[in-house]
Amino acid sequence: MSKTKSSESVKVVVRCRPLNRKEESNGPAGGIVQMDLRLGQVILRNPRAPPSEPQKTFTFDAVYDANSKQRDLYDESVRPLIDSVLAGFNGTIFAYGQTGTGKTYTMQGAWLDPEKRGVIPNAFDHIFTHISRSQSDKQYLVRASYLEIYREEVRDLLDPNHANARALELRESPDTGVYVRDLTSCVCKSIKEIEEVMNMGNQARAVGATDMNEHSSRSHALFLITVECSQPGPDGRKHIRVGRLNLVDLAGSERQAKTGVQGERLKEAAKINLSLSALGNVISALADGRSGHVPYRDSKLTRLLQDSLGGNAKTVMVATLGPASQHYDETLTTLRYANRAKNIQNQPRVNEDPKDALLREFQKEIARLRAQLNHRKWRSKQKKEQVDGEGWDDDTAGEEEEEVEKEAEEYVKQEEQRLEMEKEAIRGDRFLLAEEKQRLLGEKERMMGDLRKEQEATEHLTAKYKAMESKLLVGGKNIMDHTNEQQKMLELKRQEIAEQTRKEREMQQQMLVQDEETLELRETFTSLQQEVEAKTKKLKKLYAKLQCIKAEIQDVNDEHVRSRQELEQTQNELTRELKFKYLIIENFIPPEEKNKIMNRLTFDPEEDQWKFQPLVPTESKSSQMKKRPASAVGYKRPISQYARVAIAMGPHSRYRAENIMFLELDMTPLNTASLDRSTEAEPNQSPSQDNSPTKDRGVRKSRSWCQTQKSITSSSSNASLVACHTSTPTAAQ
Ligand code: ADP
Ligand code: MG
Repeated sequence: MSKTKSSESVKVVVRCRPLNRKEESNGPAGGIVQMDLRLGQVILRNPRAPPSEPQKTFTFDAVYDANSKQRDLYDESVRPLIDSVLAGFNGTIFAYGQTGTGKTYTMQGAWLDPEKRGVIPNAFDHIFTHISRSQSDKQYLVRASYLEIYREEVRDLLDPNHANARALELRESPDTGVYVRDLTSCVCKSIKEIEEVMNMGNQARAVGATDMNEHSSRSHALFLITVECSQPGPDGRKHIRVGRLNLVDLAGSERQAKTGVQGERLKEAAKINLSLSALGNVISALADGRSGHVPYRDSKLTRLLQDSLGGNAKTVMVATLGPASQHYDETLTTLRYANRAKNIQNQPRVNEDPKDALLREFQKEIARLRAQLNHRKWRSKQKKEQVDGEGWDDDTAGEEEEEVEKEAEEYVKQEEQRLEMEKEAIRGDRFLLAEEKQRLLGEKERMMGDLRKEQEATEHLTAKYKAMESKLLVGGKNIMDHTNEQQKMLELKRQEIAEQTRKEREMQQQMLVQDEETLELRETFTSLQQEVEAKTKKLKKLYAKLQCIKAEIQDVNDEHVRSRQELEQTQNELTRELKFKYLIIENFIPPEEKNKIMNRLTFDPEEDQWKFQPLVPTESKSSQMKKRPASAVGYKRPISQYARVAIAMGPHSRYRAENIMFLELDMTPLNTASLDRSTEAEPNQSPSQDNSPTKDRGVRKSRSWCQTQKSITSSSSNASLVACHTSTPTAAQ
C-alpha cells in the first residue's frame, strides 16, 4: 500500500487581516504585527512594554499581510497540497486563530467575488480542472462530506434531518484510519454540484447558529473531499489511488474563561474548548518529540485529525492574526502555537489500491449492468435473426455495440407489428369459433404484454447503467473547460512564479541561519581595536538574544501558570458537581438500585466513554418482548405463576395444615397399613417424609395435603389451577 514513505514537516503559514473600522477608531494608530514577506517573518510588538524591550520575531513557511490576495495564498501554499491529494496523498488544511481574525474568510471567502474566493472554492476549481485536463485513460470519482463538531458531538451537516440527528460515532480501521460512521457522502460530478453540497451544509450550520448565539465560532467545521482515481498500471491492471482532503475551519481559539462565564456555561465552555486544548496538547506532544504518548483520544477533533498531525498526511496550517493592540495576548498565543506546529513531522504516503475504494465497486457494478444489458440485447438480436430466417453466425460477435442496440430495437418493433398483424388475421378469420378466437387473441395479447415488460426492463437497466456511469468522471472530457490555451498558460506561469517565490524564501531563510553561523569565521581583524569592537558588537547581540529568550521563558511560564489556574478552576467546579451527585446517590438511591445500574455499565473503548447496556439484550429482544403474557382464566390482567398459586392456596397458607376441615375432606380409605409400607412406596413421597418418626394416620393425611399442594406448585396447567381455585373457597368456609 505504501509507495513512498518519507517524512515531512507540517507547513505553517501566518496571515494577518487588515484593521477593521472599529479597531481603527478606538485603538492607537497602526497594528502590532509587522511582516517580512521575503523572509517569512512575523514581528510582534508588545503595546504595554517599554520601547526598549526587544520585539518578538517568529519565522514561518510563509506569511501573508493585510494586503495579501486570496489567490496568492492559494497558489503558494495550498496548490501543492491539492496536487498531492490528486496524486493519492491525504491532505489537511486547517485555519486556526482567534474569532474574527479571518479563518472563515481564508477558508471560504466571498464566493461571488472571484478575487475573494477562499481556499475551499479554489480547491474545487483546481480539482475539477485537473480532472478535465487529465488523460482519457483515467477515471475519477469525487465524493464530499461535511460535518461539524459542536460540544464534543460530531454532527452530519448533509443529513436532511440535521437538527434532530443523533451525534455520529468515530471508528477506526487499519485501512482508512479514523473515520465517522454513517456520515453522508455525496458523489459530485462538477464544481456546481460540490458547491451545492457546501451550501447545503452551510445552511444547516446557519440554522444551528440562530439557536445558539455565536454557534459558528464555537463549532469546528470539516469539509471532506475524497478523490479516487483509477489508471491502468504497467501490469495492465487498473490501479486505484485515493486522496482524502480535509478542509477545516476551527472554532475561535480565544479563552472562554476570559469571558467570565460560570456554572453551566463554564462547563459548556470547557467542553467547547476541550477540542482546542486537546489540539494544543497534541501539537505540543508531537513537537516535543520526547513524550511517547500523544493524547489523540482526548477529543473528537484530535481523533479526526490524527492522521493529519504526525500521521499519513500532508498538512498546512494557516494561523490567522488580528493586528489590533488589544488582542496582543491572543496573537502571541496563536504565534506560539503555530511556531510549535512547525516541528511536527508527518509520514505521508500514496494510498494505493485500498480495500474500501468506492470507485472499484462502481466499476464492478457498471461492468455487471453492462453485461446484463448486452445479454438482453443480444438475445433480442438473435431472436430477430431467427425471425428473419438468417442463421446465427459468429461474425456478428465483432459487430458494433450500437448496431446491436439498433437491431434489438428493430426486433421489438417488428415483433410488435407481427403480433398486431396476427391479431388482425385472427379477428378476420371467419372459420374460427368465437371461443377459439378469444383464446388466440388472449394469447397474443399476453405475448405483447411480455414483450413490453421486457422492453421496460431493458430501459430501466439502461437508465441505471447510464446514471452509474455518469458518476465516474473520465479524464480528457471537458467538464468545464471553457478555458482557452492562453488562460492555461497564464495559470501555469502563475504557479511557476509561486513556486519560485517559495523557493526564494526558503533560500533566504537558510542563508540567514548560515550567515549567523559563519559570520565569525569570515571575519578577519586588522587591529586589536577592531577585534574588540566586533566582539563587543557580537556580545551585545548575543546579550539581546539572551534577554529575548529569558523574556520568552518568563512569558511561557506565565502562560503555563495561567492555563493551569484555569484548569484548576474548571476541575474544582467539576469536583464540586461530582460531590453533589455522589451525595444524591448516597442519600436518595437505594444501594440495590445503584448496584443494578452499576452492573449495567460497560466501558466502550472505541467511544472512550461509559455506556449502559440495554435492559433487554438486543438479539433476543424480538422473541422475548413480542407477546404480552396471556391473562389467566377469569382475570382481567396478566398474572404471574406465583400469584396464581398464592391465590389458589388462599390466605395464610402457612396455617393451612392445621385446618381440620381440610384434613377431614382429604381423608382416603386405607388398605392395610403393612401392605402400604412394604410393597409399594408412594412414588412422590419425599425422603424427609419417609424418615419421619411418626407414621400414624393423622400425620399421613396431612402429608397427603402437602402432596396435593406440591402438585399445584409444580404444575402450571390451567385445569389443576382451576380445580384448586374452586376448592379454596370451600376450604376457607
Ligand atoms: P473568523 O472566522 O476567524 O471568526 P471571519 O473570517 O469571519 O473570522 O472574519 C471576520 C471579518 O474580517 C469578516 O468580515 C472578514 O470579511 C474580515 N476579514 C478577515 N480576513 C480578512 C482579510 N485578509 N482581508 C479582508 N478582510 C478580512
Ligand atoms: Mg469563522
